[in-house]
Amino acid sequence: MLRALPPAHELIGLAATQLALKPDEAHPMVTRALQALREALEAGAVTADREALKARALSLIEAEHRAARQGGLRPVINGTGVVLHTNLGRAPLGARVYEALGPLVTGYATLEFDTLSGQRGHRDAALARRLSALVGCEDAVVVNNCAAAVLIACTAFGAGKRVLVSRGELVEIGGGFRIPEVIASCGASLVEVGTTNKTRLSDFARVMNASVGAILKVHQSNFVLQGFTEAAPRAGLAGLCNEWGVPLIEDLGAGALVDTQRFGLDRETTVREALSGGADLVLASGDKLLGGPQAGLIVGRARFVETLRRHPLMRALRPGRLVLAALDETLAVYQRGEAETALPAVAMMAASAAEVEARAVALKAAVEARGPYPGVNLTLCQSMARVGGGSLPLAALPSTALRVEGPPGHWLAARLRQGWPVSVVGRVTSGAFFVDLRTVQVQALAALAGALAEALLGWRAGEGRDTLGESQEAGSRSDDGGDDDTH
Ligand SMILES: *Cc1c(COP(=O)(O)O)cnc(C)c1O
Repeated sequence: MLRALPPAHELIGLAATQLALKPDEAHPMVTRALQALREALEAGAVTADREALKARALSLIEAEHRAARQGGLRPVINGTGVVLHTNLGRAPLGARVYEALGPLVTGYATLEFDTLSGQRGHRDAALARRLSALVGCEDAVVVNNCAAAVLIACTAFGAGKRVLVSRGELVEIGGGFRIPEVIASCGASLVEVGTTNKTRLSDFARVMNASVGAILKVHQSNFVLQGFTEAAPRAGLAGLCNEWGVPLIEDLGAGALVDTQRFGLDRETTVREALSGGADLVLASGDKLLGGPQAGLIVGRARFVETLRRHPLMRALRPGRLVLAALDETLAVYQRGEAETALPAVAMMAASAAEVEARAVALKAAVEARGPYPGVNLTLCQSMARVGGGSLPLAALPSTALRVEGPPGHWLAARLRQGWPVSVVGRVTSGAFFVDLRTVQVQALAALAGALAEALLGWRAGEGRDTLGESQEAGSRSDDGGDDDTH
């Protein structure tokens, strides 16, 4: 009976011709497939037919290969309409930013080296100069992300002391990052000030004393507080901090360098506004509204920044030169006034509704040109894209989506998500699949059209028909784009 098993070398050959697997890659999978078939034969679960066993082995190998390559980091075309999608890496780096990285990272670079003096320099020196020109800070340091910035600032100024925070700002950013827990983990004691909806300067003044190490102001990034509300003015808090010689730390999160109203969005406090309004240290993400790499910017008064630069945690939280170089280039783009064209996330927010619609029209035509797809209906519809990433929670960007009806939305979503080499992530609403074009870059349109056409041709050829009955259940799920954890 076991003699019906195909020989390993034959399966390796088939894996090469049919699945484009190299012998080295295929070998362990072939061994596992044969083992599984041997057990199935012995259990009487399959019949001893050579051709059938060969086909079965090949499908086992293909399934293992497909599962293995789903696990890693690979490119995604973002059709969710969420610009700063945390699950998809937030802001894409600009192509020019990426190109400028090459020489700085493939060889050595002046990471901590001052070529003028030949002495050791600061790794943030160049960044601090750019940030000072862009946002008006005295000095700056950079850490791994904004969460790290909150951690080091609250540790350096709050450990063994009290940190004052308004009750309206004791927020959860997402992914388990909750302000009260962060403050506790820094060895500081949190003093909750005021109430959820109203906190006045007098509330802060009443609890201010020599045991306070800092006031922390936290941006309400991912929710809005409306109605009977009041917050202590930044300038008043700054005055109080100044009186006691402690910093007013503002965790801004979003990190807008330009006024988002230019894009028809709500107002976000810019880093410059927070600083000129009185914050001593402003903490912001590099990959939110700034549109750069994951990083945490700490900008503000020189003496407070210097305290952080010398803090023992800095060594653990500082980014490597890959990130510093990407951030430096991103800031250079701002200095040249080119953010809206050279930084993809900013360009996506800045794009007019007409530009997005033109992309949708081009996509639809490119998909149709590869058809026909009987039983499939492609239409363009209005959509509302979002900024995401814990910024501007209510803001909607007018957009256009391609709606695909016919194949069950959840089947098509899974097929495209697992596509190779590029994964396509869209939305499923009322059983139909949607690709929002605001978050699709022009250079990705051809690959997107190819992936959609391939999936729809697969549907025509009978793939996914067995899942039809599930479409009702899938229709109730509104979003296939993962959980946009801010956040
Ligand atoms: C997003 C956010 C953070 C965390 O930023 P990361 O860069 O993701 O670490 C911290 N604080 C606020 C207010 C935020 O919005």
